[in-house]
Amino acid sequence: LVEARGISKYYGQTRVLNNISLGVCKSEVTCIIGPSGSGKSTLLRSLAFLEEYDGGDVLIEGELLGYIEKDGARARAPLSEINRVRRHVGMVFQQFNLWPHMTAAGNVAEALLRVKKMPRARARERAMHMLEKVGLADKADAYPARLSGGQQQRVAIARALAMEPHIMLFDEPTSALDPELVGEVLQVMKELAREGMTMVVVTHEMGFAAQVADRVVFLDKGEIAVSGPPDEIFRNPAQPRLRQFLQNYL
Ligand code: ATP
Ligand code: MG
Repeated sequence: LVEARGISKYYGQTRVLNNISLGVCKSEVTCIIGPSGSGKSTLLRSLAFLEEYDGGDVLIEGELLGYIEKDGARARAPLSEINRVRRHVGMVFQQFNLWPHMTAAGNVAEALLRVKKMPRARARERAMHMLEKVGLADKADAYPARLSGGQQQRVAIARALAMEPHIMLFDEPTSALDPELVGEVLQVMKELAREGMTMVVVTHEMGFAAQVADRVVFLDKGEIAVSGPPDEIFRNPAQPRLRQFLQNYL
């Protein structure tokens, strides 16, 4: 469903991603773990072309993202084409980025109205349905300032889901939350995984990764240092850097 082939990225002289290849199949959950600065966010953003990379390809459902091949040469794709290829990619970030002047339902409906040109009544109906899914039907008319961090993040998830994504990318969706609010967001994500949503999740929640992931990728200094099923990663990891990294979570 999503494939990265040899992605490399530099910031000036600094190499942030080194030849990363990664394939995510339908209904699979891939968790990306690794130390701060290892390139996790950069990789995730590259998968949605929110970040330009210096080498490699990203394919979404078999289509090249970000570039078009023309007469054997490669050119930067126009934004409309980029948006077409990534229209089924949903993203949720650490910061929820809700519109403060819109209610929860308004936030979820906004892209349906603007991007999908959906009639207002139908957008509202879809928004209500999505809020129900994340357990927030009763907060539909609340403004973000009146919602807890966990509730705001669930609205952000509902907003992404309303666009009917085929794949969801999460970048540390719970790291900005108070510890007692982490569980409700992870619960929604577990439910999504159970329903067969394809997901790539950058996370520091090792319990979630161990329980939900089909595959765990350990990123270290811009490279995939280890990749495998959670059993292999968490039970008796052989790779020294991974072992050292996981020790911080015990
Ligand atoms: P964290 O766990 O702290 O979120 P991360 O694994 O997501 O870290 P990235 O945000 O992908 O790491 O950053 C990877 C590297 O790229 C870091 O060394 C960072 O300093 C560098 N970097 C990120 N963005 C920029 C930028 N705009 N300009 C220069 N360097 C950058
Ligand atoms: Mg990050």
